[in-house]
Formats: sequence, C-alpha cells, structure tokens
Amino acid sequence: MRFSGLRVLREGLTGNRGWAPHWRDPEPKSEYDVVIIGGGGHGLSTAYYLAKNHGITNVAVLEKGYIGGGNVGRNTTIVRANYFLPGNSEFYSHSLKLWEGMEEDLNYNVMHSQRGLINLFHSDGQRDAFVRRGNSMIAQGDDAVLLDREGVRKHLPYLDFDNVRFPIYGGLLHPRGGSARHDAVAWGYGRGADQRGVDLLQNCEVTGIDIENGKVRGVQTSRGPIRAKKVAIVVAGRSGQVAAMAGMRLPIESHVLQAFVTEGLKPVIDHVVSFGMGHFYISQSDKGGLVFGGDIDFYASYAQRGNLPMKEHVMEAGMTLMPMIGKAKVLRSWGGIMDMTPDGSPIIDKTDTEGLFIDCGWCYGGFKAVPGSGWALAHLMATGESHETARGFRLDRYRTGRGIIDEEGTGSQHNLH
Ligand SMILES: Cc1cc2nc3c(=O)[nH]c(=O)nc-3n(C[C@H](O)[C@H](O)[C@H](O)COP(=O)(O)OP(=O)(O)OC[C@H]3O[C@@H](n4cnc5c(N)ncnc54)[C@H](O)[C@@H]3O)c2cc1C
Repeated sequence: MRFSGLRVLREGLTGNRGWAPHWRDPEPKSEYDVVIIGGGGHGLSTAYYLAKNHGITNVAVLEKGYIGGGNVGRNTTIVRANYFLPGNSEFYSHSLKLWEGMEEDLNYNVMHSQRGLINLFHSDGQRDAFVRRGNSMIAQGDDAVLLDREGVRKHLPYLDFDNVRFPIYGGLLHPRGGSARHDAVAWGYGRGADQRGVDLLQNCEVTGIDIENGKVRGVQTSRGPIRAKKVAIVVAGRSGQVAAMAGMRLPIESHVLQAFVTEGLKPVIDHVVSFGMGHFYISQSDKGGLVFGGDIDFYASYAQRGNLPMKEHVMEAGMTLMPMIGKAKVLRSWGGIMDMTPDGSPIIDKTDTEGLFIDCGWCYGGFKAVPGSGWALAHLMATGESHETARGFRLDRYRTGRGIIDEEGTGSQHNLH
C-alpha cells in the first residue's frame, strides 16, 4: 500500500475502509539470518537498511513490548547535526542528510520540520566556543549562522534577554535543525522493513543469548528459542542487562530522562531553542503543545517514569529563560531510560563473540541518529566493516583509551550536564 494525497482523498470519500495494517503480525520462525533485539528506532532502521541496502531480508526484529513504546516514542524529537568533533560530526551530518530524504524513501509522513535550532550563549567565553563549533559545522558541510543579541531577539522576542544572572549575548542558529514526529519514524521504518520481508515480532522478550565456542547461535525468547547466524543488541536503556546475557559488562549507566508537554497553545515558538546556561530545550508541536526537557536524573535507574525534583529543576530553567512559560499548564510528563556512556558518544561495533553486534550508548541524543545508526549497523553486519561515518564508535576505546570522542567532557557524569 502506497500513501499519497490522492489516496487520502479517495479514502476520505469512501469511508476510510481501504487502509491496511502497517505491518504483518507473523509467528516467529525457528531460524533467521539476522535477529535484531529491540524494536526501537535504531533496531527498525537497521532492519530496513539491511533489507534495502544489502538485500538481507531473512531478518526478525524482536521487541519485548510494542513497536514505538521505548525511547523512540518518548523523546522530544529534536533532529540536528551541530556536533563539533570529528568522530561524531561526520556521523550526524550523514544522519541529517538521511532525514532530509526519509519521507520520500519510506513513503511516510514523519512530519520532519527543519524549523531551525538556536543554541543560546550567555558569556564571551561561550560565544567563542560557539564560533568554533559553527566553523567546524560549516567545515563539515553543514550550516551555522552566528546571531548577535539583536539577531536572536528578532527570532525569539519572548526570551528574558536581561536576566540578571544569565543575560543573552547571542545564539548559534542551525537552520537545517528541527524536529519530527517520533512515533511516525518508528512506524515508517517498521512498515518499510515489513514490506521488504522483515518479521516484526512484538511481545517477544529476549531472555537469553545462545553462544557456542565463541560464536552466537541464537536467542531464547518469551515466544520460544530462535536460531540466528547474526544477532544485534539494540536495546537503548536496557543495553547493560541484555549484553550481560552474553557475558558482557558494558561501560554504560542507565539514567531516566524526563520530558514535558503543555496544553495546546497558539503558535508562539517557531524554532527549537536551547538554553546555554542550564539544561533546558523547547519547541512547539504542530498540535500547539510546548514540548520541553532538561537533564537526566542524577542517579542511575531503570524506572521508566518521572519524579518531582527533576521537574522542579527543569521548570526553573524554563522560567529563567522565558518567564512567559509560567502561564502555560503542563499536561503530561514522562520518562525514558537513557544509555549513558563515559564519553557521551555511542557504540556501533562487533563484540568478542562472533556474529554478535552491539549498537548503544546514544545517551539522550539518539533520535536524530536513527537513520545514520541503522545505516551504519546494517553496513557493519552485512560487510563486516565499519561504515566510514561510524569508525570512531568502537567499543574498545573504553579499554584502550584511544579514540575517546567526548563532545563536552561530561559523558555519563550526570552532575556536569
Ligand atoms: C525524554 C526524552 C527526550 C529525548 N529527546 C531527544 C531529542 O530531542 N533528540 C534526540 O536525538 N534524542 C532524544 N532522546 C534520545 C532518544 O530517544 C534515544 O537515544 C533513542 O530513541 C534510543 O534508541 P531507540 O529508539 O532504538 O530506543 P528504544 O525506542 O528505547 O528501543 C529499544 C527497544 O528495545 C526493547 N527491549 C529492551 N530489552 C529487550 C529485550 N530483552 N527483548 C526485546 N526487546 C527489548 C525496548 O522495549 C525498546 O522498545 C530523548 C529520550 C528521552 C527519553
């Protein structure tokens, strides 16, 4: 089934009776060439690109809950390529290019909106850092525009420019940054993978990983054992637990990250805006809700829910930056479990077990990475070689100390975020 404007019109006129489910609901087969553990954005995009780019279609994605129920459906939907250091910047640059062709490629409206992202700065030192970042982005082939105070005021007149403690000096505008509808990304990749023959198995929890003579043989699941020649662990906040099934101890801490949405308001915030002196970022959804978030919780946890201290912390930052937000009513808040690495950068690599791969450590920035990560992991699984954009994402960098990519020196050190 292809989506088009004409199709929507025809269905609207004929009672919407022609729509079919987005994907099949198959029974697990006893064996696949590839099993991907985790039906989030990264697992689904990996399955899609395995099929599309490499013709590998005897693939199953095993999801313990439902497709889109993890972080891919819980994030604040920011998509950007404003990274500073080689290792990360070429990867996110590639990922953003994939975002720009995603809707056509998937034949799916993911509501990708390049509304522009503005990172604010509040001191001369911070301005210097943003100038360097902007130059590095331009050198990488991405876009960046330095805005002075008046330049920011033109775009974001509602901010508190003269806040005594954190006056706004200017901002770095990334015009191609923006947002997208998060669940649609999961549904689009899921549908695309299913159409190419991939089995999406929901309510299928992996409970064990079978390894013989240093080689992966398959997995144990709540729906029975499944043999596989290759297995990928792509489970975000649960990475440490699932990797332990293969005897691995990962350099990952899991922390909750919360997000908030207000009641629907008339359009007021056109861009994605991030505060430079506190961890607070905000955009407005197409429904009118102000969507915002801040820091991860300051302690490790697998509790997929929010708590009051962090709410207060985020609201304080929001009120400092834009006091007008105090008039909005918060409608909902929620949490997702983040897989934080010591250097704040991800891992896409083989493991010491033959045929077992891992894709994790996306910290709180993995939504924008969904296409790039799937592309790179599919490449690695199909060819045995790291994709050129993801060569730095090696697991052994934590053992050897070589190739650590830290962006801002905070990594999983939560009190520094
Ligand atoms: C509040 C919040 C705001 C965020 N904001 C942004 C943002 O603005 N921009 C950005 O780029 N990123 C953001 N992120 C981060 C981003 O959402 C994540 O880094 C990314 O979604 C993680 O990859 P995923 O989509 O594959 O994870 P998930 O969707 O969590 O997928 C992993 C899946 O694995 C499944 N699983 C776990 N264990 C098992 C098992 N044993 N067997 C089978 N399945 C299993 C889980 O059920 C889950 O569905 C945010 C995250 C949160 C929580």
